[in-house]
Amino acid sequence: MEKLTVEIPSQSICIKEAFCPNGHSLMTPDHPLGGCPSIRVHAVSDSGREGDIYLNAWYGNFEVEATISMKEGEVFEIYCPTCRVDLRRPDERCAFCGARMFQLQLPRGSIVEACSRRGCHNHRLKVVDISAQLGRIFDFDTRPRY
Ligand SMILES: [Zn+2]
Ligand SMILES: [Zn+2]
Repeated sequence: MEKLTVEIPSQSICIKEAFCPNGHSLMTPDHPLGGCPSIRVHAVSDSGREGDIYLNAWYGNFEVEATISMKEGEVFEIYCPTCRVDLRRPDERCAFCGARMFQLQLPRGSIVEACSRRGCHNHRLKVVDISAQLGRIFDFDTRPRY
């Protein structure tokens, strides 16, 4: 496979659909941020405070609103608000700060990952089925080659 690197200007795309691994939508149309439905996750701080965090769905925007107080540098456990499945990757730690990364499922097997530490801006978008998106940008040559 050829590897394709795509550079996206910060906050030029808005995540429209995000799910937990059990298929529950995390989108919160009744709590928009920046004109887009926010992404709601359940969070538990390391001192045991529990509440909901609303993530800005614009990729690269780290604005959040929360029903609990969040200190800069604090690490949170991140769960699906519906089924409470742990959204953190057991195997993946942030390359910047060592906290665990959490993962949101996007349509067609794509994922977005972000650091669970407040104020750490490590995040990653993995688009799996890119041919569908590329089809809108490029004309694929489907004729037989000689
Ligand atoms: Zn769930
Ligand atoms: Zn981090």
